[in-house]
Amino acid sequence: MRLPEFVRSWVFGSILAAIASVVAFLLGTIYEGVKPIFLASVFPTIPRETLIALAALFCLATLLLALWVWYLHSSEATTDRLRNHNFSPLTGIATHKKTNIRHCTRCLIEDNRVAPLGINGDRESGEWICMRPKCRTLYNEKKGE
Ligand SMILES: [Zn+2]
Repeated sequence: MRLPEFVRSWVFGSILAAIASVVAFLLGTIYEGVKPIFLASVFPTIPRETLIALAALFCLATLLLALWVWYLHSSEATTDRLRNHNFSPLTGIATHKKTNIRHCTRCLIEDNRVAPLGINGDRESGEWICMRPKCRTLYNEKKGE
């Protein structure tokens, strides 16, 4: 007889939690036993230069981890931005999947920004221009026809 899936997962999670609790208790006991000895006899023997080097190493590691988190976050946001658009290979225009608003592909890819396109000239020309003053890239919708 097999147990239902939710019971098996509950039992497995309970056993895992019990094992983790016992390990944490043992580590805490060991730490409390070793801490006074470490502070009284081992810690004063470590040279000051070594402690400064360790502190600098921890600061550097913290900085690198923060930069890594920032990089991962920004690359994920970029991927989401690109995933939310349809790209026309003929016109080069990026269209948002939900709102159908046309956005500048150059700004999306190169500058990581969402810039809307505006009609350039009359509506019949099919010309669109990036509304960002630094970009102003022209797109022609008639190219795709
Ligand atoms: Zn642009």
